[in-house]
Amino acid sequence: MDRKCPQCGSAETGPSFTFDYDRDDSGRVVARNPFFACVGCEHTWQVEMVLVVAEPFDPDDDEAIKGFVEAINKEVVDAG
Ligand SMILES: [Zn+2]
Repeated sequence: MDRKCPQCGSAETGPSFTFDYDRDDSGRVVARNPFFACVGCEHTWQVEMVLVVAEPFDPDDDEAIKGFVEAINKEVVDAG
C-alpha cells in the first residue's frame, strides 16, 4: 500500500472504511473502492481498487466491521 495523500502528499495513509464489501467462499473479505484517510491532514478520499482482507467477518455485525477496519489498518502498518 503506497497511496499518497492527494492533498498534502503524505505517505501516512491507509484504508479507512468502505460501503461496498463482500465475502467470498473461502471467508476472505473483498472491499471494493474503499475510502482512504490521511493521518497528516485527515483528508479522506475514495480509491478505485479491490482490497482483499484475509480476516473473515460478519457484514451484519457492527463490531465485526470495526474489526475489519482495524484489520486493514493493521495490514498497512505491518507492510510499512
Ligand atoms: Zn494529507
